[in-house]
Amino acid sequence: MNIKAQYAMVLNLDKCLGCHTCSIPCKNVWTNRKGTEYMWFNNVESKPGMGYPRKWENQEIHKGGWRLKWGNLKLTAGGRTQKLLNIFHNPDLPVIDDYYEPWTYDYENLISSPRKNHQPSTRPKSLITGENMQIKWGPNWEDDLAGVSETGRYDINFRNLDYSIYLAFRNVFMFYLPRLCEHCLNPACVASCPSGALYKREEDGIVLVDQERCRGWRYCVSGCPYKKVYFNWQTGRSEKCIFCYPRIEAGMPTLCALSCVGRIRYVGVILYDANRIKEAASAKTEQEVYPAHLDMILDPKDPEIQKSAAGQGIPKNFMDAALRSPVYMLAKEWKLALPLHPEYRTLPMVWYIPPLSPISEHTQDAEGLDVIDSMRIPITYLANLLTAGDEAPVRLALKRLMAMREYMRSVRIKKSPDDSVLEAVGLSVESAVSMYELLSIAKFENRFVVPTKSETDENQLYTDQGESGYPG
Ligand code: SF4
Ligand code: SF4
Repeated sequence: MNIKAQYAMVLNLDKCLGCHTCSIPCKNVWTNRKGTEYMWFNNVESKPGMGYPRKWENQEIHKGGWRLKWGNLKLTAGGRTQKLLNIFHNPDLPVIDDYYEPWTYDYENLISSPRKNHQPSTRPKSLITGENMQIKWGPNWEDDLAGVSETGRYDINFRNLDYSIYLAFRNVFMFYLPRLCEHCLNPACVASCPSGALYKREEDGIVLVDQERCRGWRYCVSGCPYKKVYFNWQTGRSEKCIFCYPRIEAGMPTLCALSCVGRIRYVGVILYDANRIKEAASAKTEQEVYPAHLDMILDPKDPEIQKSAAGQGIPKNFMDAALRSPVYMLAKEWKLALPLHPEYRTLPMVWYIPPLSPISEHTQDAEGLDVIDSMRIPITYLANLLTAGDEAPVRLALKRLMAMREYMRSVRIKKSPDDSVLEAVGLSVESAVSMYELLSIAKFENRFVVPTKSETDENQLYTDQGESGYPG
């Protein structure tokens, strides 16, 4: 067993407001330079929709991630020979119009315009060419389903569903999908780079681009199936989400997680067996990747794991953090959080709790049927998004969320605790209460369990600064 520790994140889609607050501090801090205008390391998409860049989920077009070829794991875009053939033109790359042409407004004209009969206006100007431009697309063009009757049909999560039914005005559903780099265990971006510029940090699993080694081949951009590596047209090098490593190393959560208004994000440490990456990523069918991925994640409470991890040099503060990891609880222990498109076989480490829609008081309707089958968002759609089409894990997660709510209502409102709803979904009262506490009323220190990089100064920066200035 080769035990590694990795920072990971869970996002509770049930609570995302679509406010885009998470994207703003990320943009202001990490992509505020020339050449990065169109980049959003964190963006928030409305589903259904094509997303940013357009149709990023469609690997028939973009050829990102991995696939099995005669039982062997291969990059979808092909190996070294294929790359050499495409070296001067990579047909799998999204073009700037798939992202959007970044723009600003001619604000100066508002204050310096000569006196006229009409008010001066602010025309959009391209941040690339500086010329006046017509805005035709943007990073959140589909916000709150804008234009979904046109663009929704390209959403591949409608596989095995008749999209026209769900895009009809009265039936349409919606939820938000905030996205960042998944800091995958089997990152296709790293494997695609001919220069070896992308790497996964040994100590904490964060995936980074070495700016000195990057030669601008852009195979990482096409190789990443989540389209979370961007090419800086000014420096000629690739850039991506760095999981706010300067903050993380100091024991603080990422900016997107810290600023999240809905408090939907959780950051914690996961222990996993690195010897099983290939086996999990090469699972026979796409639907078997998620269970194999989950299987690699190790139980930090297991004394044998603790002993082996200590023997293999996992620092004590990482071990302690793993024991309190909200990500471990939500993804592995309770199986509420699921990976985004596991069929890409990159083993992503940002996990999503599927949304309930609409919120219902009871797990069963008046006829005794599961309410999750009459929810507005089709289970098949969520399964296509989160479990390669396997509906069972999505059903289990939704049923557990419903059962926890129903149980807590019986305690808080009816004043007559009814744990029969919990038994039906394999939850104990203790688990349901812990789930409620973590999902509903968790404090800062429970949502973000981030060990500092150095064992000697654990939490020192955090303690020195105190909690003031952070949302509690
Ligand atoms: S999501 Fe991140 S780590 Fe995974 S392949 Fe894309 S850029 Fe690499
Ligand atoms: S800040 Fe939080 S609630 Fe708002 S869009 Fe981002 S993830 Fe969703």
